[in-house]
Amino acid sequence: MRPIQARISIGAMAHNLRVARSHSGAARVFAVVKANAYGHGLSRARRAFAAADGFAVLTLEEAANLRLMGVEQPIMLLEGIFGADEIATCAELDLSPVLHHAGQLDWLERQPPARPIRVFLKFDTGMHRLGFPLAEHAGIVARVRGLSGIAGITLMTHFAQADEATGVAWQLQPFLRELASHGLPWSSANSAALLRYPETQGAWTRPGIMLYGASPYADVSAAELGLRPAMSLQSEIISVQTLQAGEGVGYGQLYRAERAMRVGVVACGYADGYPRHALTGTPVLVNGRRSQTLGRVSMDMLCVDLSEHPDAEAGSSVELWGDNLPVDAVAAAAGTNSYELLCALAARVPVEEAE
Ligand SMILES: *Cc1c(COP(=O)(O)O)cnc(C)c1O
Repeated sequence: MRPIQARISIGAMAHNLRVARSHSGAARVFAVVKANAYGHGLSRARRAFAAADGFAVLTLEEAANLRLMGVEQPIMLLEGIFGADEIATCAELDLSPVLHHAGQLDWLERQPPARPIRVFLKFDTGMHRLGFPLAEHAGIVARVRGLSGIAGITLMTHFAQADEATGVAWQLQPFLRELASHGLPWSSANSAALLRYPETQGAWTRPGIMLYGASPYADVSAAELGLRPAMSLQSEIISVQTLQAGEGVGYGQLYRAERAMRVGVVACGYADGYPRHALTGTPVLVNGRRSQTLGRVSMDMLCVDLSEHPDAEAGSSVELWGDNLPVDAVAAAAGTNSYELLCALAARVPVEEAE
């Protein structure tokens, strides 16, 4: 069998949920499990986050799967409904859609849900992606209050720079000021906001990335935040090559040896979810010790530097990211973030579950 494997720790995910809760004050916690729980598997997320107050997903299919698995907590649809035909399922499965554009209100007006549903009413406070303009709040809130089949309204917004020095105040202050008169519960915090800004807690927090043990910030590690990595991507060296000075390795021969050296070929490529744009120098562990990738990542393989690893041979263990090599460090070296790496774990990689 090809030696690549992902190990996913249910215990680490449960631990990270407790960290999220400890930063959420009196707010209830929606575990964000979109994108197959950031690559960790929806069913695993349901078990690991059984203590969450709710789950947030993107699609009706994910929501239906959670209900099939026995989830009884509220389920939030992060982008709401994509057509009037989805209203019936929201009522049937008791799902809470985000309402962020007028078309969705039109659909609900014409086809009120058969059973009352709770909704999240999203306002744009500067992200300029989804949400009603804050300036139109009076009319929008009044309109949603007038719809039949609505059991409760929670106001919502999303931060664009909670992970940066700029922070959240420029969005949070107008949101709270403008909407205060409605006296409704509200939700604003993603991981970056809830870890740094307790004032963003509101009624519901919405942590995602931190639950999987990665840091939302470029300048603070997951370990410093008390988080435990949930996914570890492991493989082995399947071939060892010796390069002479001037010889190159891999497609495009992007890396060339300056002197004679040994190169390990690892069973892991971009079809497994490893980023192809990771250049020479991306960190990797060989037999638990730091090394680096060399040249271009191929579909099924990548090459690593064995200059400082005389003991390494075919069969030696390789950690691409995980307990001993933060996914954030790999992401930073590859010019992306941990979200993209975790979500990209390919279906062909076998997963072993760990406690
Ligand atoms: C994905 C998402 C989150 C979670 O964000 P993280 O940065 O992963 O914590 C929260 N809120 C909304 C609206 C989202 O789409």
